[in-house]
Amino acid sequence: MRIDVLTLFPEMFSGVLGSSILKRAADHVSDPADPHDPAKVRPPVVEYHLTNIRDYTDNKHNKVDRPPFGGGPGMVIQCQPVWDAVMAVEAQDARRATRILTSPQGEPLTQSIADELATHDRLLIIAGHYEGIDQRVIDKLAPIRKVSIGDYVLSGGELPAMVMIDSIVRLLPGALGDDTSTEHESFAAGADGLLDYPHYTKPRTWMDMEVPEVLLSGNHAAIEQWRKEQAMERTRQRRPDLLK
Ligand code: SAM
Repeated sequence: MRIDVLTLFPEMFSGVLGSSILKRAADHVSDPADPHDPAKVRPPVVEYHLTNIRDYTDNKHNKVDRPPFGGGPGMVIQCQPVWDAVMAVEAQDARRATRILTSPQGEPLTQSIADELATHDRLLIIAGHYEGIDQRVIDKLAPIRKVSIGDYVLSGGELPAMVMIDSIVRLLPGALGDDTSTEHESFAAGADGLLDYPHYTKPRTWMDMEVPEVLLSGNHAAIEQWRKEQAMERTRQRRPDLLK
């Protein structure tokens, strides 16, 4: 998958895209069992391309924002640099990009939207800033999905873009290690959309608290059953709306 992000603050992405699973997904990864066999190297499952919208301004001061027509507070990102940036970036690759605008007014990001977006070859995410982007360029870029990460307003679309990228990239085949799966996580279709069950690891006793006995039993059917019950109980208590 290729992911393009158009932003005024590309430097915000380096820590997130350069760490942990998101970094690993963009790297060549050798097989730990056979680290010197080039045939077993897993190629990158994603490429990130960050573009600064400011690089596409047509004025000598590289200004991208202007006061809103009609008055009111804040500044609005102009059509021209956004349009030119999208056209230039889309022309860099023959794969058709699914355009996404980060917006608190968009469809709320859910696991099923992340699942669906993870099936695309190429995503182009536009991070707004200030009061937002001139509506005319948003209209001109149709079809463009508007996606929100929740009912609150952030200063810019950079954090939402990173949240979206994380939720999507971890679903790409090969992004997580072989021993990790997304199938049984909270909200996953494989777990009937329930919340995840509780997890425990060593030591068996910590501050007089024991690991549930069933998890030490070696009885896989009993463990499976216990986890299902725990997932159901948690969902009932914490997120009964998911059971409807
Ligand atoms: N004036 C806009 C409104 O009231 O709907 C808010 C603009 S916000 C300060 C600036 C930018 O941050 C937005 O254009 C959007 O790209 C991004 N943003 C803010 N909150 C967001 C959210 N909850 N989800 C996705 N993007 C968000």
